[in-house]
Amino acid sequence: MSAKIIDGKAFAATVREKVASHVVRLKADHGITPGLAVVLVGEDPASQVYVRNKGKQTVECGMQSFEHKLPAETPEADLLALIDRLNADPAVHGILVQLPLPGHMNADAVINAIDPAKDVDGFHISNVGLLGTGQKSMVPCTPLGCLMMLRDHLGSLSGLNAVVLGRSNIVGKPMAQLLLGESCTVTIAHSRTRDIEEVCRRADILVAAVGRPQMIKGDWVKPGATVIDVGINRIDAPEKGEGKTRLVGDCDYDSCAEVAGAITPVPGGVGPMTIACLLANTVTACCRANGLSEPEGLTA
Ligand code: NDP
Repeated sequence: MSAKIIDGKAFAATVREKVASHVVRLKADHGITPGLAVVLVGEDPASQVYVRNKGKQTVECGMQSFEHKLPAETPEADLLALIDRLNADPAVHGILVQLPLPGHMNADAVINAIDPAKDVDGFHISNVGLLGTGQKSMVPCTPLGCLMMLRDHLGSLSGLNAVVLGRSNIVGKPMAQLLLGESCTVTIAHSRTRDIEEVCRRADILVAAVGRPQMIKGDWVKPGATVIDVGINRIDAPEKGEGKTRLVGDCDYDSCAEVAGAITPVPGGVGPMTIACLLANTVTACCRANGLSEPEGLTA
């Protein structure tokens, strides 16, 4: 194995430290405590774990955490009314509605009901438009985390060939926009892309967000490329015992690490950066709401 391992867990800890020190300053200098409201509808076990982690890390960074848990059968109108209240609450600087929502709800309508200035997930149509036109926006947390790691590892990204595998609204598309903003030459590949291995081999930066366990093999990777593996997939792990599972990325880690210059592991790569960037976005939103300068290095 030759690739440098990009340690997302350690990097996320440094982001959280920056967030926490900025929170201390906001409190001391301005008497303001940033607040993040997380709304969970239903009892999806994975979502419950995410929400718990987000709340815990919010408090650990010195911010206020407001958790709203609603039953799965909550009418959409009640959720929209809660969002209205959170939009109007000056103690709440960031609002996150945990996805997926139950089937009877229109996720787009719910997300677009959030005040764009408090949309710390960056999914509101206004923020999508601002990002797409290169204006100041709230940037989706996972791509923001990927960008921070890329900048940290590579410095300037200008002129590099970047291939983003996946075109979802929450990862692939905003990732491509951010890389374009860094003056990369960006290709977005997806399930209909022809000769995808060849497309990948042109990448100086390869971001994999397809949700297919270990799909990207070492011979898809350009020697020395930087590989960011966003995928989180659970697969059977009979070697750990009967019925056991383990997490893997979208990249076949061992073969990719033989060829890449640097690679993020799964777990411990992009995953920890996502929550750290949510906290960063909350501080950023709080500073913007109060007309204060934003913390350096925590935005795109
Ligand atoms: P989506 O399912 O929304 O999108 C997957 C994308 O991958 C689609 O654009 C799809 O193409 C493309 N794709 C699927 N199969 C192939 C294939 N065989 N070849 C080429 N392209 C393919 O997934 P998300 O973007 O939400 O998530 C992607 C992965 O990232 C998942 O593993 C998810 O768990 C993980 N994730 C991790 C996060 C983290 O914090 N680390 C946060 C969010 C997601 P098409 O559009 O043509 O169907």
